[in-house]
Amino acid sequence: MITIRQEDMIGSVADALQIISYTHPGDHLRALGDAWQREQSPAARDAITQILANSRMCFEGKRPICQDTGIVVAFLKIGMNVRWDAQLSVEDMINAGVRRAYTHPDNPLRASIVADPAGMRCNTQDNTPAVVHLTLVPGDTLEVILAAKGGGSENKARLAMLNPTDNLVDWVLDTIPSLGAGWCPPGIIGLGIGGTAEKAMLLAKESLLAPVNIQALQARGPTTRLEELRLEIYDKVNALGIGAQGLGGLTTVLDVKILDYPTHAASLPVALIPNCAATRHIHFTLNGSGPATLPAPKLEDWPPVTWSGNLTARHVNLDTLQRDDVAAWRSGETLLLSGTLLTGRDAAHRRIADLIANDEPLPAGVDFTNRLIYYVGPVSPVRSEVVGPAGPTTATRMDKFTDLMLRKTGLIGMIGKAERGPEAIASIKRHRAAYLVAVGGAAYLVAKAIKSAKVIAFEELGMEAIYAFQVEDMPVTVAVDVHGNSIHTMGPLAWQQRTGTIPVVTQP
Ligand code: SF4
Repeated sequence: MITIRQEDMIGSVADALQIISYTHPGDHLRALGDAWQREQSPAARDAITQILANSRMCFEGKRPICQDTGIVVAFLKIGMNVRWDAQLSVEDMINAGVRRAYTHPDNPLRASIVADPAGMRCNTQDNTPAVVHLTLVPGDTLEVILAAKGGGSENKARLAMLNPTDNLVDWVLDTIPSLGAGWCPPGIIGLGIGGTAEKAMLLAKESLLAPVNIQALQARGPTTRLEELRLEIYDKVNALGIGAQGLGGLTTVLDVKILDYPTHAASLPVALIPNCAATRHIHFTLNGSGPATLPAPKLEDWPPVTWSGNLTARHVNLDTLQRDDVAAWRSGETLLLSGTLLTGRDAAHRRIADLIANDEPLPAGVDFTNRLIYYVGPVSPVRSEVVGPAGPTTATRMDKFTDLMLRKTGLIGMIGKAERGPEAIASIKRHRAAYLVAVGGAAYLVAKAIKSAKVIAFEELGMEAIYAFQVEDMPVTVAVDVHGNSIHTMGPLAWQQRTGTIPVVTQP
């Protein structure tokens, strides 16, 4: 029988969440490094370069890998001989740890959780509550797995109740392209097979928390049906050519993880959950001797990759930008932006749409004429920072506002991540505007290009307020040009056609 003290539990959870906010797991880094070596698509390689450079900078600066610091998911295996010296429930101890981690004065993390999700959607301010899964197991230790799951990748979770004779690989291959790039590939695909609908989802989520090891499996060969499936799906998904950030390339997934469970003879439940470029999870054990010993990553774990800008990129002055300048940009081209950029995401767009509908003016100081809008909700700054990590959010959510913004505000372009829908692309083409993408999962690197940040409207929306950013050489790629050409369509198609003919260099 062992006894776990409340403070040991809370402190361990808080310390672990702080570490994963700025540290990629070592196995994930090695797989990303290998993908970087193999990648032959210039746009995808540039994106992976930014993700790796960002990762190293975050570890050195102890600042979040991504502005979306995630919803906390906890899996606990509680030994049946464990006793507690605690006043709080197990879930409340975890929430106390989340609160402490997300409000840490040296590295505050973005609070993204809203209560009353179908109503007021009020931010809980400290990222609580976590989603907690408890299992009682034989033994006298407590095993904890914590993950901080980004909203962009969680939104792409899918479930299918297939017929037992259906081909689940075909379902996966149909599903992955339909996810778009909002899950910020390259990442990991987790599959849960069997059980019931909710069990399959849980298996898919839990599968993502195992180490990346597909290269070892490739080397030794499969010995089980699940291992065969992992290899088949890994090869076939990468052959789709989706690539990093959906720009077209050789690596879409770094691994495919699968867990299964017996199911009803009439059923074949299959759940799919992707993990993104900001894969964050950590495992620790409490045995009653004090707080957990947490992994201590070393700088040598990071591949020696640096990002020093793109020498062939077009430099753009945002303060003199005209429609004719935008018309010269071509889908796939890299730009380095300098000057004033206005921000806005879901809530700000809703407010703007309401003002326009009521024939009311936009707030003083908000003028989108010949400007670009950046879809972002930054982390609060600390110390000498002007803004915390500030990577792009998924642009697709703003599609329903795009035509209104282009028609009514003088806006001539947008910056976000992932693809746009057909109506948004048609509107972009009609208004001779452009849509640009920054790299999702490279938020700290992007923030280094922001030289000043000032809230100019809707301050009460917190990270969703409208800011004016002064940026210098902010790297973006033209995703949709004035002709409506989309890199998220053209890139994967081109690389899908090429993957069959490209000799892939494997790492020793
Ligand atoms: S990498 Fe992309 S999906 Fe992941 S947390 Fe960041 S923005 Fe969200």
